[in-house]
Amino acid sequence: MGRFFRDVFQLETSVRLVMPVCYNVRRPARFAPRLQYSFSEGNVTELLFLVDSYTREFQAQVTELADDGVVLDRTAFYAGGGGQPYDTGVLVAGEARFQVTRVGRKDGKIIHQIHGSLPQKGAEVQGILDWERRYLLMRTHTALHILCGVVWRDFGAKVTGGDMQPGTARMDFELDQMTSQFAEEVSEKINAEVKAARPVHVGNLTREEAEREPDLIRTKINLLPSGIREVRTIDISGLDLQADGGTHVANTREVGTINVVGHESKGRINKRLRIALSKAEAAS
Ligand SMILES: [Zn+2]
Repeated sequence: MGRFFRDVFQLETSVRLVMPVCYNVRRPARFAPRLQYSFSEGNVTELLFLVDSYTREFQAQVTELADDGVVLDRTAFYAGGGGQPYDTGVLVAGEARFQVTRVGRKDGKIIHQIHGSLPQKGAEVQGILDWERRYLLMRTHTALHILCGVVWRDFGAKVTGGDMQPGTARMDFELDQMTSQFAEEVSEKINAEVKAARPVHVGNLTREEAEREPDLIRTKINLLPSGIREVRTIDISGLDLQADGGTHVANTREVGTINVVGHESKGRINKRLRIALSKAEAAS
């Protein structure tokens, strides 16, 4: 039983826990600084992507101006974190278009960085995501969870780190050996999970429920600040359950073919797999 657990904790609001990337308990020291808690009482932005990752356009109001960007009352732009890159896109106010070149956090607030002049405070804007980039990131993120789930289930190897870009990703495992044969075997197994068309559910557990969930116990949920009452989960039905704050596709079938494009040793018990998605299968 007991699948493992990965944890980069990032608090989006005072009650919601967001853990965007795939990690495990015995991560090497060099990853430790990425474990962070940020209580962001100042952040009053409603995070639409936490509920529906397929929201690609939305209406919002500019609540604050920053040096080179704006804060909105609600957003579907992912601010990046724990391995999943930020979204880009545009804010439209009447005839004016404002390019969102980067989204990040500052002082607990989500800043939509804008190239050029800013919209006015109080302006009503329509946010439009660069959907091609975001959807590819959703497919890539879910592909990583499939990889995590399969390598733990079938080989008992924990994750020691990972990273993703749109369409490509790498993940490191606690393994003695990494061979072409192993990479091929993993490739077959992860693509079988894509074909199995497993539903991917977004859930919220109370802290008490999360602490009783066998698949999450390894997440060091007991390390969470006591103020955190709720844990967001991504559940690939029958394969992998993680506490996670990123954006995912709704079914593993949407990931499309996952190509294992590289494998290498990063140390005695640290081995890396690289994956790339098939672009042709990207669809909305
Ligand atoms: Zn993740």
